[in-house]
Amino acid sequence: MADIGTKDLTISFFTDADLWPAKMRNALFCDALQQTIYIRQLMGASSIACKVKPVGCRTSIRNLIWRDCWLAIGDAARTIDPLSGGGVARAITDGIDAADAISIALTRSDFGPLRAFAVQRANSFFDNLEVQREYYSRESRWQVSEFWRRRTEPLSDPSESRTRMAYTKVST
Ligand SMILES: Cc1cc2nc3c(=O)[nH]c(=O)nc-3n(C[C@H](O)[C@H](O)[C@H](O)COP(=O)(O)OP(=O)(O)OC[C@H]3O[C@@H](n4cnc5c(N)ncnc54)[C@H](O)[C@@H]3O)c2cc1C
Repeated sequence: MADIGTKDLTISFFTDADLWPAKMRNALFCDALQQTIYIRQLMGASSIACKVKPVGCRTSIRNLIWRDCWLAIGDAARTIDPLSGGGVARAITDGIDAADAISIALTRSDFGPLRAFAVQRANSFFDNLEVQREYYSRESRWQVSEFWRRRTEPLSDPSESRTRMAYTKVST
């Protein structure tokens, strides 16, 4: 929940899009809100006027992070869903490292650091996925929830994420 400095409040509810069909989103959100204790109190009467706006933040990575004079950083390069945190730190670090790599490319026509940046991000994405699974596995409160079942069931093929890492490395 965030006070964004206007009379509006923003409340984030994480789910999978297919679990909340478009036509039922407002009703499902109101229902979820009714199950809260503190957020419902903080919202007071404004809960009546709440409007659901879906925003994507699923875990994903671009096939290409760098090419020629084009570089993706922060969430534009890869997003780890916000449940496991770290997105702001990754974005800041990317900005700092990208500035150095761009500077070297411009002053020395050396594109190695840009490529290294992209490969490092692709590698670390899959390390981040392992941290994410570790976070998920610690959550045991909602075992009947489909959302959490999807996040805690064992990987069918534990080597899958490493295979995809190899693919992404080739692409960068
Ligand atoms: C609900 C939620 C909660 C989160 N909680 C946390 C948390 O607790 N801790 C944490 O570390 N991370 C959290 N994250 C993740 C974190 O917010 C992101 O990882 C981080 O903000 C990414 O920074 P960024 O600069 O890459 O992208 P952004 O913060 O998305 O910034 C991109 C900016 O570019 C602007 N923009 C887009 N298109 C254009 C265009 N064409 N022209 C000009 N401007 C454009 C956008 O308006 C935006 O201001 C959360 C994310 C969500 C969705």
